[in-house]
Amino acid sequence: MERRAFLQLLIKGFVVSSFTGMYPAVSWGKTAFDYSIEGQNFIQKGAYEKAIESLQKAIEIDPESDWAYGLLGRSYRSLNKEAEAVEAFRKALRLNPEDVYSRMMIEMMTQKPIPGLKKKEQPLSPLEIAAKDEERRMLKFLQSDEGLTYQVKRVVIDAGHGGFDSGAVGYNGLQEKDVTLDLARMLHQRLAYHGKIKSFLTRTADYYIPLSDRTAVANQYQADLFVSIHVNASKNRDASGSETYYCSEKASNKEAARVASFENAVLKYDKPFKRKSDYIDIEEILFQFEQRLNWNESGTYAAKFQKRFEQRLPLQGRGVNSANFFVLRRAKMPSILLEVGFISNPSDEVKLRQKAFREKVADSIFWGLL
Ligand SMILES: [Zn+2]
Repeated sequence: MERRAFLQLLIKGFVVSSFTGMYPAVSWGKTAFDYSIEGQNFIQKGAYEKAIESLQKAIEIDPESDWAYGLLGRSYRSLNKEAEAVEAFRKALRLNPEDVYSRMMIEMMTQKPIPGLKKKEQPLSPLEIAAKDEERRMLKFLQSDEGLTYQVKRVVIDAGHGGFDSGAVGYNGLQEKDVTLDLARMLHQRLAYHGKIKSFLTRTADYYIPLSDRTAVANQYQADLFVSIHVNASKNRDASGSETYYCSEKASNKEAARVASFENAVLKYDKPFKRKSDYIDIEEILFQFEQRLNWNESGTYAAKFQKRFEQRLPLQGRGVNSANFFVLRRAKMPSILLEVGFISNPSDEVKLRQKAFREKVADSIFWGLL
């Protein structure tokens, strides 16, 4: 046993014996928070059964913890115990109605597959030919003036990283995940106040969400735009400024490839994307057609966004680039990823710590989206 745990046990032993019967659920001196953290750690290691044990202890101590219920839902889901997972996500949502992730999971898991539709091994069905025609038509439309006046109505804001995944860390300890969450919330507030664009957050607190689930939120909400917020980092401490990225198979340059590989690094903790065998595959075929359209449109949108973003940005503008960002890959709508400043630049880090500076950045993102 660790020394710290042992000391906690001693202290708790004293406390429990003084209040016998009052704290029946408390043991080993751990708090609900400790058990939730333990549960989260087990989830990352793939030890879902153990995670459930820890999370149930957390819930025994604190039945109001939406965080513990959310993690419990994820553990059950990973074990394919869908009924238990849905129940846990429902509890999380009841405790925190803003928990978009749990809402999305409930909706996803309670959807019934369409029976009788199987992937065909034939070259091209009439529907696929029609989809290709549609693709050509859409491409033409997007290149026209009409296509360029595309307007955003629903946006999903993704605060990069979270939980065990801190993202980049500055020389003085500032963590990317905290800056991105704050910026996402500020942007969400501005959009709510503005009232014409409905926004959703992929996460509302400090917890981790798998990359593929982040765009799943956007798909579920049929968003018009997905914005993932990040802070850049570089070995070059002088690097500074903000840029906008969109998804492409090939990176636009070496630096873009480096940024994408950093942002994709957490992938090793995510479960591979799996489709249920009885789910319709035609969706996947159409998805691949749409994907290219969306990436195309994302590029156009990113350029327009960055231009306006830079007008109010309290940082240098670094333009638009593209690379294979996993978090954007499965979005069924135009999607962009912002790298706001460099946490590795000591003076940017000082600025990014300041609320007033973050407010200005949030203002400039908001201005870019309008
Ligand atoms: Zn990041």
